Amino acid sequence: MTQRRIVVTSALPYANGDIHIGHLVEYLQTDFWVRFQKMCGHACVYVCADDTHGTPIMVRARNEGITPEALIARSHQQHSRDFADFEVAFDNFDSTHCEANRALSNRIFQALEQGGHVTSRLLPQLYCDHDGMFLPDRFVKGTCPKCGSTGQYGDACDACSATYAAEELVDARCTVCGRAPVTRDSEHIFVELEHFRDFLKAWVPAHTARDVANKLLEWFGEPLRGWDISRDAPYFGFEIPGHPGKYFYVWVDAPVGYMASLQNWCARNGESFDAWWQSPATELYHFIGKDIVRFHCLFWPAMLHSAGFRGPDQVFVHGFLTVNGEKMSKSKGTFISARTYLNHLSPQYLRFYYACKLNGTTDDIDLNLEDFFGRVNSDLVGKITNLASRGAQMLHKNLDGWTGELDVAGCELFGFAQGRADAVAAAYEARDFCRVLVEVREIADRANQYFDGRAPWALVKTDPEAARAVLTSTLNVFRVLAIYLKPILPAYAVKVEKLFGESPYVWSDVAKVFINKPVGAYEYLATRIEKEQVDLMVEESKPGMKSEVSGQKAEVSSTVGQSNRPVGASVAAPVAAPVAASIEGAAKALVDFDTFSKVDLRVAKIVTAELVEGADKLLKLMVDLADGKPPRQVFAGIRKFYEPATLVGRNVVLVANMAPRKMRFGISEGMVLAATNADGAIFVVAPDSGAQAGAVVK
Ligand SMILES: [Zn+2]
Ligand SMILES: [Zn+2]
Repeated sequence: MTQRRIVVTSALPYANGDIHIGHLVEYLQTDFWVRFQKMCGHACVYVCADDTHGTPIMVRARNEGITPEALIARSHQQHSRDFADFEVAFDNFDSTHCEANRALSNRIFQALEQGGHVTSRLLPQLYCDHDGMFLPDRFVKGTCPKCGSTGQYGDACDACSATYAAEELVDARCTVCGRAPVTRDSEHIFVELEHFRDFLKAWVPAHTARDVANKLLEWFGEPLRGWDISRDAPYFGFEIPGHPGKYFYVWVDAPVGYMASLQNWCARNGESFDAWWQSPATELYHFIGKDIVRFHCLFWPAMLHSAGFRGPDQVFVHGFLTVNGEKMSKSKGTFISARTYLNHLSPQYLRFYYACKLNGTTDDIDLNLEDFFGRVNSDLVGKITNLASRGAQMLHKNLDGWTGELDVAGCELFGFAQGRADAVAAAYEARDFCRVLVEVREIADRANQYFDGRAPWALVKTDPEAARAVLTSTLNVFRVLAIYLKPILPAYAVKVEKLFGESPYVWSDVAKVFINKPVGAYEYLATRIEKEQVDLMVEESKPGMKSEVSGQKAEVSSTVGQSNRPVGASVAAPVAAPVAASIEGAAKALVDFDTFSKVDLRVAKIVTAELVEGADKLLKLMVDLADGKPPRQVFAGIRKFYEPATLVGRNVVLVANMAPRKMRFGISEGMVLAATNADGAIFVVAPDSGAQAGAVVK
């Protein structure tokens, strides 16, 4: 077999939100495919990155009072942890905010420009004279031109879902200064997609599935519209070379992030980027959802083509996730973040279930929660894992844990299981993971029939060696199943490798037989899911629960004196899109500087921190303001997130002129600022090093 060189990508998650079970449909299937290729001995590199640019990131960072860089660094950490815990094994998980990406984006843009494919046009846009800047849609608020709701953003109305241009807003206001903006013409830079018509018309059907291609080709009935690739400052992204004050629209540098991530991987591993990306011997595949087909199958190949880069061999497009047959819903608790899932359930169950559902097409897949725990319990635990647990435990209990030979019927069964290797491999290659599971289940069914028919628990009393042969046969079939399932259940396979005392399984290990050797002690591989675990996960995902992802997302809030308030009481109505969710904090009315100045913010040093008897959320802090007075007492609702000892000596930000508040445990004389994450975790706000106790924060 010749070794293939393969580069695989998943779409880049946006740095402005949590990874949720909808995202995981893509990352898990890509991971299954990549792990299968690696098991077959192919050189396969799986790269991805956080997509870090654009207005939503900038707005959110502003609302949180941090830099966009700090925001994306935090997301990167959280996303990396979620992916690692779901066993998604990227070879490189990068960020689009890196120099490699900037250089490649510039190079591609300059090639487009030199090729004569770039034009510019003047477009009217709102401009704030006071702040001296063009206003992105999310920097404008006003009254919806359709329904008259006030306080709506410049692109869409939260109340009636209407979309419109920012200039159409009634009584529009700049969200930075509160003044009325004016309309000015701004130069926008376009890529003339029509120039690539012939190239794309041939490219699309050759590199996408038929249904995807047919949909895309509908666009070719009329001239392809130019693509507006520029945004005005302020924008968090890359400035366009030769066009000061203009930035690449986030969708320009996002797919370039695939290349940059590969380039960074190459640099780290002493490999040549050109030898990987540009070589015709390298296969290149993008896994994406059907909502971003236009970017990947029209704009992206045109960009690459223009700059002399190769494009993907295939773009694999999948459908969306529904839960219980409906769109994921916050109010129903089915908008489940990766972290909330992990709080209740093992990642291997979702990996297994998604594999059962994914067939390599653009069909949507449904996570039916009843079916989910039913299928995990009946198939993964009942049918498959039981073979190992019964076989290995019986062997240890009665027959010293040693395997013998296979009996005749067992030999035939084992031959059948091994004989499915090519069919299973073909299903993996075609991303038809559902088919993999069909094969696995059929083998498991036959193995269970064989096991039950031979009744080794009775046989062991009359003919121990015959029983040994039955258990040996059963365990050999199970071992083959574990190899077949390894791309889907990698941690499970590691335990099976340990059970048989073997080195990490590769695909060709299916051909081996395990006889006349001892098996290790049985360690549990998968246990039944209780319905309660699923119910609790759904409960935790509902608005107002701990992991509330809509309302208070990273809003800077006080943690003192509010701990007795019902959780989520201040939470706004749930919103559907993570992007919209994140700007929830912006909904407060504007304040002028004088109003802000009324709050006396000071750096304070924590002198002592201790638990408060009878209050499981509170810590009692004594904080020093270096004002010549004894330290003040402040209660903070951060007990679940901080060990008291780790806080002592740290600087925090204190609302120093907070009216003293009498609590059951004593008087609180101030308020410590902290940020609350999407998952409910609380982070105390701290100044950079160098700030001293007593320093004014403004
Ligand atoms: Zn409206
Ligand atoms: Zn302004």
